[in-house]
Amino acid sequence: MKIRFEERKQLKEKPKTNELGFGKYFTDYMFMCDWNEEEQWHDARIVPYGPIPLDPASMVLHYAQETFEGLKAYKTQDGRILLFRPDMNARRMMYSNKRLSMPVIPEEMFLEAVEALVRVEKDWIPDQERTSLYIRPFMFATEAGVGVHPAKSYVFMIVCSPVGSYYPEGVNPVKIYVEEEFVRAVRGGTGFAKCGGNYAGSVAAQAKAAKLGYTQVLWLDGVHRKYVEEVGTMNVFFKIKGEIYTAPIEGTVLAGVTRDSILTLLKDWGYTVHEEHLSIDDLMEAGRNGDLEESFGSGTAAVITPIGELNYRGEIVKIHQFTTGELTQKLYDTLTAIQWGEIKDTYLWTREIF
Ligand SMILES: *Cc1c(COP(=O)(O)O)cnc(C)c1O
Repeated sequence: MKIRFEERKQLKEKPKTNELGFGKYFTDYMFMCDWNEEEQWHDARIVPYGPIPLDPASMVLHYAQETFEGLKAYKTQDGRILLFRPDMNARRMMYSNKRLSMPVIPEEMFLEAVEALVRVEKDWIPDQERTSLYIRPFMFATEAGVGVHPAKSYVFMIVCSPVGSYYPEGVNPVKIYVEEEFVRAVRGGTGFAKCGGNYAGSVAAQAKAAKLGYTQVLWLDGVHRKYVEEVGTMNVFFKIKGEIYTAPIEGTVLAGVTRDSILTLLKDWGYTVHEEHLSIDDLMEAGRNGDLEESFGSGTAAVITPIGELNYRGEIVKIHQFTTGELTQKLYDTLTAIQWGEIKDTYLWTREIF
């Protein structure tokens, strides 16, 4: 792929590392590539970060034909730049695009675009402990028109944001509200795709939980409102009597890269892992009688988020006395050590950018 480069006259001032937060600052450049039926993918370019002209009738603004991804570039102590399993993000975006009737981005093109932009922005990758450059590839329908059909033109873009450690004070548990009224996904819907519409539909539940003093919601399945699926925008795990439970990938749950990596580690460490439906009643019962030993959410942004409390219909169970469980901490430590190049990557998960 030929990538045109348009230089910026003046570079931005970089924020202080201790003030990064998450997703507040964006780098100097962005990647763009257009698609239409005649030319297919064309005009790949890295241009100064900034607003983009968009026709008010652009179909994405009306019918939400949009998909996205999220991954990070990590700087190691000896100055190398690593990505973590970016091929999985590339493949997941293909599934998302197919579900939304959008043209796919070939895996090689996705990886080349991510690497080219990170190379240009390598000075933006912070190097303090557990900081990184968050990479956000996304694609949307640009065709102007108000009729529902697969659009005839799209743009694929990538922007980057330097992010601080998600947990500057260390990994601490959060309180989770079990949501019964709103649902996130049903089979046959778009739950397995990373598309903007899923999140638009979920913010009402998040706002409701926040009002009640909870960090996130635990989503139940959309049909029976019975089986646990995800927590907020993370996959969710439970350790019950020494064995691990997480929801199966059957169309309603997003196939997280972190989830897959955790399952691999757990199996290698000898744990029995159940990718099975777990009912909220069984979960609460395990919480009541002390069998629920640990729980956490998993995703690229925070890696691992320990769950210290569940509220279901007003009943509250505490998990691990509202402290981070040993296995939860070990998973966090192992994954982050691989991502930041501190221990040997025996799984060949990291990909160095030269
Ligand atoms: C992105 C996302 C995840 C986590 O996926 P990772 O690849 O681990 O970052 C989980 N659930 C939902 C709904 C998501 O959007």
